[in-house]
Amino acid sequence: MHSTNPLTPTAAQHTGLDSEAAFREAVRTFCLHELPQGLKDKVHGNLFLNKQDNLEFLHALHRRGWAAGHWPRQYGGCDWTPLERFIFEEESTLNGAPWLIPFGVNYVGPVIYTFGSPAQKERFLPPILASTEWWAQGYSEPGAGSDLASLKTRAVRQGHVYRVTGQKIWTSYVQWADWMFCLVRTSDEGRPQQGISFLLIDMRTPGITIRPIRTMDGCHHVNEVFLDEVEVPVENLVGEEGCGWHYAKFLLGNERVLAAETGRSMRQLRHLQRLVRERAGGDGVNLPEFERRLHGLQLQLHVLRAFCLETARNMSAQESAGVQASIMKIRGSELQQAISEATMDWLGTSATVYDPALVHGQQVASQLGPPETAGAVREYLHGRASTIYGGSNEIQRNIISKAELGL
Ligand SMILES: Cc1cc2nc3c(=O)[nH]c(=O)nc-3n(C[C@H](O)[C@H](O)[C@H](O)COP(=O)(O)OP(=O)(O)OC[C@H]3O[C@@H](n4cnc5c(N)ncnc54)[C@H](O)[C@@H]3O)c2cc1C
Repeated sequence: MHSTNPLTPTAAQHTGLDSEAAFREAVRTFCLHELPQGLKDKVHGNLFLNKQDNLEFLHALHRRGWAAGHWPRQYGGCDWTPLERFIFEEESTLNGAPWLIPFGVNYVGPVIYTFGSPAQKERFLPPILASTEWWAQGYSEPGAGSDLASLKTRAVRQGHVYRVTGQKIWTSYVQWADWMFCLVRTSDEGRPQQGISFLLIDMRTPGITIRPIRTMDGCHHVNEVFLDEVEVPVENLVGEEGCGWHYAKFLLGNERVLAAETGRSMRQLRHLQRLVRERAGGDGVNLPEFERRLHGLQLQLHVLRAFCLETARNMSAQESAGVQASIMKIRGSELQQAISEATMDWLGTSATVYDPALVHGQQVASQLGPPETAGAVREYLHGRASTIYGGSNEIQRNIISKAELGL
């Protein structure tokens, strides 16, 4: 795939396309000169990235003034349009940048500058921009994932504090976090959505226990978080008590804008194309048939990119992508999985041997096949989750059928 625009431009679009191309070039230059080579090598090798790796990327963005490109200028952003945001995500991922872990800059930051108090904006936004504080998202609970409104973690107000008790689950990278934004139940009155509030919890507060969950790639991405009478100052309530569902939906709207992850799919597909070109792997594979399969994947990616670009061009910064975001999430995650499945088929038996030590940068004698095999297996195993997190694909289909078919 080339990173040129797949849409045929009309004459009126030419100026816009020139500035799009210039912006792409600026992102490529940033990746070439300002991202550490060691980090890019890890990303291209699909190795596990630790907190320090992620911070190297975030600090490079901060130095370039792009820590929060899509935020309004008044809060330290660049007022990027949805299209610029899409191009940044695609082009940077393609050129060796890691997935931007979204909890601070993409999720809680916009909630705070939209609904937070002046004191909260002053306290929390600068460390998000500078990546000096790490955030985690405490939404899901056992029994409250897709049906988030049934969450049970309770916050009881006593004077100047809330006392929070309950359990969160699947909390990504909370083991690195200084803060967690959390949905809690403050009332049982009315519809379940009405009794939910949005709290900012300092992870150093007594009463918090984190228990790791090791996923099938052998890595530590997610956790359980137990909260036992955790005291949270009332000034850490965002907006109004009982309105947390509204802020949570606003946040999820932002969450799905970039859901297609076309840059990641382009990178993985190029990687597979290179393995095929170099005949690295492929034992027993029918080559013409496999190449037809690759062309099919390339075509799907081309169509998805065209759809994303069209959607992003037609969106204003204030809009959420609505049903289009659900389509991007479904198609993007399915394509990622299809590419990684094809990679496993190409690598064949060598992909059946996997030692997670390899994706943590340790030398192990056991790996078969080309050197990239362990990373490719990790990508395949972890990629199983992409149709679940951020709202499962079944839930996205429900959203589409409700909006388009009124079901
Ligand atoms: C790797 C990973 C990272 C995550 N990170 C975080 C995080 O940082 N913070 C956080 O809060 N959460 C996180 N999550 C949780 C994620 O948001 C939930 O897993 C997701 O919302 C699904 O909820 P569930 O796991 O409870 O499954 P359930 O809701 O129990 O769903 C089980 C199955 O039933 C289907 N289903 C459920 N309801 C319906 C319906 N109405 N119609 C059709 N099908 C339905 C689902 O699609 C799914 O296939 C993460 C999850 C994963 C896998």
